[in-house]
Amino acid sequence: MTDLNHLFENNARWAEKIQKEQPGFFEALAKQQAPEYLWIGCSDSRVPANEIVDLMPGELFVHRNVANIVIHTDLNCMSVMQFAVEFLKVKHIMVTGHYGCGGVKAALEGRQLGLVDYWVRAIRDVYYAHKETIDGISNPTEQLNRLCELNVMQQVANVSHTNIIQNAWKRGQELTIHGWIYGIHDGRVRNLMEPISSVDQVPEQYRVY
Ligand code: ZN
Repeated sequence: MTDLNHLFENNARWAEKIQKEQPGFFEALAKQQAPEYLWIGCSDSRVPANEIVDLMPGELFVHRNVANIVIHTDLNCMSVMQFAVEFLKVKHIMVTGHYGCGGVKAALEGRQLGLVDYWVRAIRDVYYAHKETIDGISNPTEQLNRLCELNVMQQVANVSHTNIIQNAWKRGQELTIHGWIYGIHDGRVRNLMEPISSVDQVPEQYRVY
């Protein structure tokens, strides 16, 4: 019927293992989810959200796209964020980029790849905002990695500029936004910046109240 039988077999083994270690796990999970975290990360297959932070199903709400971009007209990302904040009441949002990101590389090189050019255009803007710094780095890998970091910081700012987040703070909801970057070469997550947890940390022109 299918040549993907090995995946069904993997799945059966995985489900059995969890059920054996934690009887009733899936039954309890089926009733509700109560994750404390929203992960906004890259679609890259080498950056699997749950595995990296060793969290079980039910513990991490996830949105992934090419190069972990947060664009205010992206209904998908905004809907995920609103649902996570207003209904699941997550306490932390982590925008997690990774070194060697292909999406960031495409933006840096500015080559035509098709539809994705429009998507990574936002990162090209980040590049031009920090052009002197990036161009001042002679090693191409380091150049790319610096832009990967700057992109995360910009996307964290973009999260904090939404009315979703600022209205939550106004309601007194505890919510912190983090900027992280993951090293595919060593499996480690690094914290890139001071987390944002209040409207006081948002520049005035981006405040909605
Ligand atoms: Zn990537």
